[in-house]
Amino acid sequence: MSILVKNLTKLYARPGAAPQRAVDAISFAVQPGEIVGFLGPNGAGKSTTMKIATAYLPPTEGTIEVNGFDVRTQSIDVRRSLGYLPEHNPLYLDMYVKEFLHFAGSLHGLGGSVLRQRVAEMIDLVGLELEQRKKIGQLSKGYRQRVGLAQALIHNPPVLILDEPTTGLDPNQLTEIRQVIRTIGREKTVLFSTHIMQEVEALCDRVIIINRGKIVADGQLSTLRETADGTIAVVAEFEQDLADAAVLNTLPGIRHVERLGENRYRLVADPNSDLRAAIFRLAADKNLTLVGLKQEESSLEGIFRELTTQKSPMKHE
Ligand code: ADP
Ligand code: MG
Repeated sequence: MSILVKNLTKLYARPGAAPQRAVDAISFAVQPGEIVGFLGPNGAGKSTTMKIATAYLPPTEGTIEVNGFDVRTQSIDVRRSLGYLPEHNPLYLDMYVKEFLHFAGSLHGLGGSVLRQRVAEMIDLVGLELEQRKKIGQLSKGYRQRVGLAQALIHNPPVLILDEPTTGLDPNQLTEIRQVIRTIGREKTVLFSTHIMQEVEALCDRVIIINRGKIVADGQLSTLRETADGTIAVVAEFEQDLADAAVLNTLPGIRHVERLGENRYRLVADPNSDLRAAIFRLAADKNLTLVGLKQEESSLEGIFRELTTQKSPMKHE
């Protein structure tokens, strides 16, 4: 097992109040070679779990094993076995990219030609060739994340722990970093955290959802999808009256049509149907102008919201 979380609890002291149970008796396992998304809203306990897995924070109860090593008693072996990209990727902005990667490698005991070789390989792997002679402070956020990934990989660990690796990136950078993570994931075990469902869908098959310190789902995305009914819902608005609204009921895969307003309709169709394209074609055929066409959030997002919406009756804040 690459990562084994066993009945892990973390309490944070709160002055003048009972300690906060940031992580509450969670257990899960990540198999070698898996890319697993660790999903949850802000404050759910993702970073706390990851900091314990990387031996930066001690557990209150329970433990985590990484590559068979216990974070409580074998922290050096744990750190040797994993690469870690922390949430706010603390980099030395005044250092040059290559200089920083040499420094990171030397912390892991690498030196000489082995280190030079590793630095060159990492620069190649994460796509930093053109930026390698710049100062880190001169790089865009996307390129800083690449430096962070190169740093995490420099000692060739079998396990990677990435804390919100794509937060704060623009859409192009996001696509690029996802691609880098996918490439890395071919050879490594990866646990990455995110608060965005699409991120998990883009990168992995398996997801663990945490909410308020507790695991609320753990399984394959396909299983989660089956749990939801998977239907697609679209709201379409036309400029003109639909002379014959029944025509909407003839669209491929359609299950039902509901009139929301004057020329606005909500249409629900079978999973995997291409409802928006069908509505578009219909409008073109009938000489209608579409003034709105919006697909409702996917059912997976719906599940995520359902699992992580706070429903506590005790809530007064
Ligand atoms: P996530 O990464 O899922 O957003 P965190 O693990 O960072 O969640 O935080 C979980 C909870 O623990 C939050 O309520 C947060 O405020 C609290 N917390 C995190 N770190 C500390 C700390 N060092 N001291 C006290 N409370 C903390
Ligand atoms: Mg966090």
